[in-house]
Amino acid sequence: EPSATIKTEIVVIGAGQAGLSAAYQLKRRGLAPHRGFVVLDQAPAPGGAWQDRWESLTLSSVNRIHDLPGMRFSEVVDPNIAEVAARVAVPQYFAAYEQRFQLPVYRPVHVAMVCARGERFRIETDRGIWSARGLINATGTWEHPFIPEYPGAERFQGRQLHTRDYQTAEEFIGQHVLVVGGGISAIQLLDEISQVTTTTWVTRRPPEFFTGPFTEERGRAAVAMVEDRVRRGLPPTSVVSVTGLALTPAIEAMQARGVLKRQPMFAEIEADGVRWADGSHQRADVILWCTGFRNALDHLAPLMLREPSGGITMTGRLATQVASNPHVHLVGYGPSASTIGANRAGAAAASELMAALGLP
Ligand code: FAD
Repeated sequence: EPSATIKTEIVVIGAGQAGLSAAYQLKRRGLAPHRGFVVLDQAPAPGGAWQDRWESLTLSSVNRIHDLPGMRFSEVVDPNIAEVAARVAVPQYFAAYEQRFQLPVYRPVHVAMVCARGERFRIETDRGIWSARGLINATGTWEHPFIPEYPGAERFQGRQLHTRDYQTAEEFIGQHVLVVGGGISAIQLLDEISQVTTTTWVTRRPPEFFTGPFTEERGRAAVAMVEDRVRRGLPPTSVVSVTGLALTPAIEAMQARGVLKRQPMFAEIEADGVRWADGSHQRADVILWCTGFRNALDHLAPLMLREPSGGITMTGRLATQVASNPHVHLVGYGPSASTIGANRAGAAAASELMAALGLP
């Protein structure tokens, strides 16, 4: 049945680390839940994209999940149980967090489209229409897997899947798996799969490993580079592409096992494998594309935020504000696409957007 438009001041789209951080900050600054702000999340349950990650991604194998503002992870999940799956622990923490701070999260609500309507935004969802004066978009990247195009992909007779679809290595036993990609996920999945079956590893560029810890300086420099890009309107790049990969004990063990022999990208996909420009061929049953994600921003298309270059020019203290529209903030985008970045971005977006709208 047709439902009335629900009015509020600010709509936060997405309830991952970035959306929850923003919601917490809006509430802390005096904005009333429901009347002042709501969070719309398409996931069936709390946890953001973490609820969909593969089983073997545990609290010990993730880089590091930072606490959300105002409540410690250790209050909910015993940090000594490192082998607990992130897809179990993080949703537990997020659920407790939403409860503790009584955050007005509506789910499952899929935002299909956001349009400008005079001084307001019209937010069209599968559960009705919201109207707001400000927008904090926190939809992450998980909904937007990226697979590069190679000729012949449609002729491949085996199975092609993306990081997003990965469940366990066991399903590939007895098959030859071609892993594509040079990021952290590619290497983690290559590690697991190569312990149960044969693999080939393909990357565009030779991977660069660095030794020693991932220092704060290294992290800051990488974030600064991504921030500089989005302030210039360029599409963001992943942090790994600017920092390189830490040479962890797990990676050293892979080198010792001989599974880190990287091949350059092939030129073409054939029915039973791939072929390089020099004519050499590799048979494969599976192509696993660990080729990353793009920001899930399709629902914002009517706002025409993108530059011809494909990027969005960002401004504001932490580059969360869309330069062409001070009432739209993107959190978890570009330099804030990490759990710690998302925390900080939530605070910056909440305070800047409330000020721009004259709230409370
Ligand atoms: P998400 O957690 O993806 O949340 C977005 C939410 O928005 C989801 O609930 C989604 O359902 C919802 N949504 C999307 N589109 C819509 C829509 N149209 N309408 C309504 N709702 C919508 N970062 C770290 O700091 N440390 C790590 O150890 C780490 N490990 C990672 C491991 C993997 C395998 C991957 C892929 C990423 C990892 N990251 C890590 C990056 C990490 O994902 C981010 O730092 C952070 O969790 C992203 O939070 P987010 O809130 O931006 O997005």
